[in-house]
Amino acid sequence: MLAYRHAFHAGNHADVLKHLVLLQVQQHLNLKDTPYRAIDTHAGAGGYALSSAAARKKAEHRQGIATLWPQRSGSKLPDAVAQYLQAVAVFNPDGALRHYPGSPELLQLGLRAQDQLRLFELHPTDHRLLNAQFGRGRGAQVMEADGFNGLKGQIPPPSRRALVLIDPSYEGHADYGLVHDTLADAVRRFAEGCYLVWYPRVHKPQSQRLPQRLKALAPKGWLHAQLNVQRADAQGFGLMGSGMFVVNPPHTLHESLAQALPWLTQALAQHEGANHVLEHHRV
Ligand code: SAM
Repeated sequence: MLAYRHAFHAGNHADVLKHLVLLQVQQHLNLKDTPYRAIDTHAGAGGYALSSAAARKKAEHRQGIATLWPQRSGSKLPDAVAQYLQAVAVFNPDGALRHYPGSPELLQLGLRAQDQLRLFELHPTDHRLLNAQFGRGRGAQVMEADGFNGLKGQIPPPSRRALVLIDPSYEGHADYGLVHDTLADAVRRFAEGCYLVWYPRVHKPQSQRLPQRLKALAPKGWLHAQLNVQRADAQGFGLMGSGMFVVNPPHTLHESLAQALPWLTQALAQHEGANHVLEHHRV
């Protein structure tokens, strides 16, 4: 049974990191006219009203996008932060923050006529919402199917250019292993693809081990970014932060994040020990 709904978490600090990195990678792909396929293996509902009962329940966006939002017209923003906030602003044209775009909406914003969008979502309600919004789009396909398993049928695309976001809910322990095995298989099938894996920073050995395990799958180059801004609760539970692991990152990504992560850490810190990690390997 799928219990996770992204509506309860939309716009939190983890979405900020994930979507900022996603936009940087997509922007880089857009520098060349050659088409690419954008694949979101765990797409969610597409976008989220911040006034919904789900979004208001824990109001996680208050410690994420809503903290950054008032700073969007500042002149000293790192470029990647400014570009991320500009993208969110497209969905909030009157300046009031009411809507948080999910990865499908953000990807679609950057896609050109020649590109393709492939969205997988297993939750029937979120799939229905996603399909209503994207199902008839040119070059788009929305599938109510397992994204881990479905990825292999989508790569390599004919143009041999792809951006793949792997962003499961990690509801159970199985997702850690599935992420590893799916990425291993994908890199074997299509080594040149650009793969982005999001993972939660929680007190679980699987979460701590995941980046190290993924590094071994990316001999041609990887980048790993972490943003840790929140304390675990008294029982040691809760999302302390999150990480993005990118296989075959654009060569510009490290520099953009070297500017953005210190700024984000300071802006989103909920305790004195907030920190970030940025490391990469290039061949
Ligand atoms: N990528 C979205 C974004 O950034 O806006 C958020 C996705 S959310 C973290 C994870 C989603 O994966 C949930 O909507 C959940 O229903 C869905 N899901 C869980 N297991 C799945 C699977 N095996 N295949 C496809 N979707 C799955």
